[in-house]
Amino acid sequence: MVIDARRCYGVQACTVACKAEYKVPLGENRSWVEEIEKGNYPATSRSFLPRLCNHCDEPACVPVCPTGATYKRAEDGIVVIDKNICIGCKYCVQACPYDMRFVNEDTGTADKCDFCIHRVSQGLDPACVEACPSRARIFGDLNDPESEVSKLVAENPVTVLRPEKGTEPNVYYIGADHTDEHDVVAETMYVDVKTHRRYEERR
Ligand code: SF4
Repeated sequence: MVIDARRCYGVQACTVACKAEYKVPLGENRSWVEEIEKGNYPATSRSFLPRLCNHCDEPACVPVCPTGATYKRAEDGIVVIDKNICIGCKYCVQACPYDMRFVNEDTGTADKCDFCIHRVSQGLDPACVEACPSRARIFGDLNDPESEVSKLVAENPVTVLRPEKGTEPNVYYIGADHTDEHDVVAETMYVDVKTHRRYEERR
């Protein structure tokens, strides 16, 4: 997926669509949009950062799973959870450096974004992509050089979340401001981040 942060106006349509698609329990989210306010007057800015599972090429959540319930699908690279064998141990919740996982109180199993497999397997876009009124989220096949996402990645400067973690995320951002309250810059500059992260230090 490519997220063009220049187009995101923080309406949270994606957040709501995802909650509705999966009946996500109150207090939890599979995807959300962070609000970043920063700067000292008059040099101030406000931007938005949509978040979801990065379906990493080296997912930190997979090797820690004791039952093999979490794995990366060979056919499309989507990182999934087999709820039939997940025991809800939370190892994966702790391992993900992006705070993208939680244990669903309704199922007792780990939960997170799965790129709406039930939709994309039918040729539809994920619910968040379909709901976005400004096309800030673009979904496609990064292995296809002719796909829109591949062209966007090739033609624009892109960033990923926390590249230093070595997880090799597959969600690419265009024009995103990754400034966080925990950055060193925050000591000299006002930075306020509104987020749904449970562990705010995870970014
Ligand atoms: Fe796993 Fe987290 Fe990467 Fe998603 S973002 S694949 S949950 S490590």
